[in-house]
Amino acid sequence: NADSAVTLAKQRGRNNYAFYTQALTEQARRRMSLESDLHLALQRGQLRVYYQLQKDLRSGQWAGLEALVRWQHPEQGIIPPNEFLPVARHAGLMGDIDEFVLHQACRQMRLWLDAGYPLRSMAVNMSGYWMERGDVVSSARAALTQCGLEASHLELEVTEDEVMQHGEQSELLLDRLAELGVRLAIDDFGTGYSSLLRLKRMPVNKLKIDRGFISDLPGSGSDSAMARAIIALGKSLQLSITAEGIETPAQEALLREFGCDTGQGYLYNAPLPAAEVERLLAAGPA
Ligand code: C2E
Ligand code: MG
Ligand code: MG
Ligand code: MG
Repeated sequence: NADSAVTLAKQRGRNNYAFYTQALTEQARRRMSLESDLHLALQRGQLRVYYQLQKDLRSGQWAGLEALVRWQHPEQGIIPPNEFLPVARHAGLMGDIDEFVLHQACRQMRLWLDAGYPLRSMAVNMSGYWMERGDVVSSARAALTQCGLEASHLELEVTEDEVMQHGEQSELLLDRLAELGVRLAIDDFGTGYSSLLRLKRMPVNKLKIDRGFISDLPGSGSDSAMARAIIALGKSLQLSITAEGIETPAQEALLREFGCDTGQGYLYNAPLPAAEVERLLAAGPA
């Protein structure tokens, strides 16, 4: 595809302008055609919500899930979020996508709770664009009411950078969401610019340690020190801690030893359609 063509062109050296330019043009063309398709995708129901399980590292039970969007493109198949969310931002569709995922994820949570699975939370990602649009609180309230969920069943994830970039306005929004009873998590923690002072003031319930700190565990001494420090920091602020991107039993064991509460990663499952996640839920504890 165009991305790998760009990588290849870069590898071939800086002088290969023709190839590089061609690859960029291809990338721009792909982006433009995706943008016009994306407007229709929402209306035509081509967006899919996949789910990734989160495991309680103490009890070994499934604790909750994160909803992650995919685009089922009619010609190109499944397109991952890192490829089409930048297009969605450019097209002004990011808030609509987040809202779609919120409603879909809440409906699915209702079905799984009705089926008797003892899940604590459904996590939904919240972009700065959605936060700016200003209707997150009413959307969350509507989704919870329509699905008969308790506010504490819903967890909204936001990255450090999104919170910091939107300043006072986002702090006010987080306060209103916390008043509603929705749980709040800082996503990709450790990768962004964050002020610990503001973190202390924010009504956040959870830190999600970015998988950049997890992938080289247990071998990397510095990553191990960082993961341990983040967990200790979180604990001292009475926050729950989730580690992202757990891929091996050794990583899980170390994080459990450090006192990490929950884990998420390919060790348990890649994000999957609801029907496939349901098979894992039905199979019982991890
Ligand atoms: P995120 O919220 O930090 O989600 C975690 C990402 O890490 C997911 O990528 C997941 O598939 C991936 N991941 C999970 N476990 C592992 C692992 O063990 N190893 C590796 N290598 N990767 C793992 P995904 O689904 O491609 O999503 C990428 C990002 O796109 C998300 O990062 C999130 O920032 C954004 N995103 C996805 N869905 C939505 C959405 O509905 N709304 C918004 N605003 N952003 C979304
Ligand atoms: Mg997330
Ligand atoms: Mg993350
Ligand atoms: Mg991320």
